[in-house]
Amino acid sequence: MANIRRRLIINGIVQGVGFRPFIYALARDIGLTGTVYNASEGVVAELEGSPLQQQEFTQRLEGEAPPLSTIISVESSDIPVQNDSEFTIIASHDKSTVSTLISPDVALCEDCRQELLNPDDRRYRYPFINCTNCGPRYTIIEDIPYDRPYTSMKNFPLCPACKAEYEDPGDRRFHAQPNACPDCGPTVWLVDKSGDRVTLDDPVRETISLLSQGNILAVKGLGGFHLAVDARNESAISRLRETKGRDEKPFAVMVRDLKTAQKLVHLTQLETETLVSIQAPIVLATTRGNSNLPPNIAPGNDRLGIMLPYTPLHHLLFAGNLDVLVMTSANFTEEPICIDNAEAEERLSKMADYYLMHNRDIYLRSDDSVVMEMAGKMRPIRRSRGHAPRPLFLKQKGPSILAVGGELKNIIALSKDEKVFLSQHIGDLENLEAYEFFKMTIEHLQRIFEIEPELIVHDLHPEYLSTKWAKEQSLPLLGVQHHHAHLAACIAEHNLSGPVIGIIMDGTGYGTDGTIWGGEFLVGDASGFERKAWFEPMPLPGGSAAIKAPWRTGLSYLYHAFGSEMPELASLADKSTAPILQMIDHDLNSPLTSSCGRLFDAVAALSGGRGEIRYEAQAAIEFMQAARNQLGTDYSMFDLSNHDGEQIISINHIMHELVRRIESEKSLANISQWFHHSLVKTFASITLNLRKESGIKQVILSGGVFQNRLLFEGLLAELKRVGLTVFTHEQVPTNDGGIALGQVIMGQKFLSF
Ligand code: ZN
Ligand code: ZN
Ligand code: FE
Repeated sequence: MANIRRRLIINGIVQGVGFRPFIYALARDIGLTGTVYNASEGVVAELEGSPLQQQEFTQRLEGEAPPLSTIISVESSDIPVQNDSEFTIIASHDKSTVSTLISPDVALCEDCRQELLNPDDRRYRYPFINCTNCGPRYTIIEDIPYDRPYTSMKNFPLCPACKAEYEDPGDRRFHAQPNACPDCGPTVWLVDKSGDRVTLDDPVRETISLLSQGNILAVKGLGGFHLAVDARNESAISRLRETKGRDEKPFAVMVRDLKTAQKLVHLTQLETETLVSIQAPIVLATTRGNSNLPPNIAPGNDRLGIMLPYTPLHHLLFAGNLDVLVMTSANFTEEPICIDNAEAEERLSKMADYYLMHNRDIYLRSDDSVVMEMAGKMRPIRRSRGHAPRPLFLKQKGPSILAVGGELKNIIALSKDEKVFLSQHIGDLENLEAYEFFKMTIEHLQRIFEIEPELIVHDLHPEYLSTKWAKEQSLPLLGVQHHHAHLAACIAEHNLSGPVIGIIMDGTGYGTDGTIWGGEFLVGDASGFERKAWFEPMPLPGGSAAIKAPWRTGLSYLYHAFGSEMPELASLADKSTAPILQMIDHDLNSPLTSSCGRLFDAVAALSGGRGEIRYEAQAAIEFMQAARNQLGTDYSMFDLSNHDGEQIISINHIMHELVRRIESEKSLANISQWFHHSLVKTFASITLNLRKESGIKQVILSGGVFQNRLLFEGLLAELKRVGLTVFTHEQVPTNDGGIALGQVIMGQKFLSF
């Protein structure tokens, strides 16, 4: 049969990921001739051969594409035959022909790992080995196009051997921008506490022995510094907790390999696949009873954050006797992760005993991503390294929007056409360093993706630094309600059209009435909403001080339900309650809130759980874990009062039921099961009523409280059981790390009217 020539335009993440060599190898393997080159619309392949060969190419294209690539679309058209004699890669020199998609940073690939550990390889034990299938990307890019002179590899001219690999289309390192070797690339060295270089042949081996002796090491990684200690050394962990100012919040660990992980935690199939994935996130998995790890790694917590080595340097750290390391972001609590060598020595000087440094600059910091399996799917808790800046794709193209997110766990978003680029985790903006990082990230993402937003979308909260920043810019603004943005984020993730019933259970968000919302049933879409049901607003004595001391919230809820007839509960016995009651009585600094997070705090504290917390949501997390993943049999329905089609979920009845259980000495486990079950039943009943009233079948769950696995899984099952279609977060966090995505589509909707 006569040859035909076909042009394929392949769009997606197809640059800097070994795509052209892949096309080259595939075409040659099949016997096609033609060319491949980069163009502004993606990778263009012109293929000449028989229809059968063409068909084989199309079939193998997606299945065999390089691991870091993502094919979004393939446009195909027939063009005149040119009778090429072979298949060639055509170089592109034009700066305008650059695809705007940049790969995230990903874990060391298996080929590179084998070379790393092979004494005969020229990169044996070289901590910066990488190829087109693995290594740093986003964190080393200063500008576009993604080419070595525009990355932090610009200081390392390729040696002849590396250059040959870089230029050979048949090589795994063809156009691998961070390609390097011991002769031409970055190096590591060790520095002691006083800033003096420790001169040694092998700083990595010395690091292992320093860790084994109980030292705290600051280790420069891919997206920033980690503080590392031997996770089997209880006193080293205590020292780390002291120096880092982190009393009880669980530490994540990095383990030598999957086998070690399996000894420490129970792993499902999905958790295993996620651990070994190229994103290599921290997986929150259930700790084994016999893990033998010191309890101060994750006090009072039945989950352990665990990850596998993802850089060559990490792999080398596990080549000795160590098999588990605490690896925590090098910063004071809630400050951004440290990335710069000089900055590290200064900021970490009180924390680390030694520093394992290197001279490949990190241009953009990126924390480890965190995920957790719930209801059979992996859910992001923190979407960062390995994911940012991979875009999410909307159904339709829209105007460019800058969404600045909220205040805590901030992530920003920028959109272009149908793509939404979410930044890495930025952190809590109330912290000055995080705020600087926020501004830098906005500027950087706009530059590397060449986005000029038409509108900035921000949270309604006037005091959020993200809101204040937005108001200083000279672009049109749109302020959106926090929980409406949560709802829109879930709509965007699933490309839903039409209104939804949104169950938004959250910590804190500024309401349209100036009170603090957080336990809301909203009906609407990206362009608007009606608030249909919410928890009865309760005073929060001391405002944010009550968030840190759940017993205060507990007292407030109890007082509301019982007035002066309040029962004496053991959990409040040693608390000085009188001043708090006065604050409530005189309405002093006692903002009203409908927050579900605060309800959890109150119930947990009154039942004998945490009265004071050392990290965010600690009371609720421990209260949930007390239930041992069971809803139990009994429950109480919350009272609802109806006001012109709006329902207030009353607190009083459930408080009386709670006290009855506390006084009859029910266990914390029993109370926790009953309370979760009561929420599930009440939420499902309200949702069913809203469905009847509105005719809307689609339900979405969003808000930080849905990181509570027992509530989330219980409610999801119940809603499905009664015939509702439920959508939940799988791409972005259900916490405030997800709201920028919602803000984007709200902005697009706003501009389209
Ligand atoms: Zn590799
Ligand atoms: Zn080299
Ligand atoms: Fe929120």
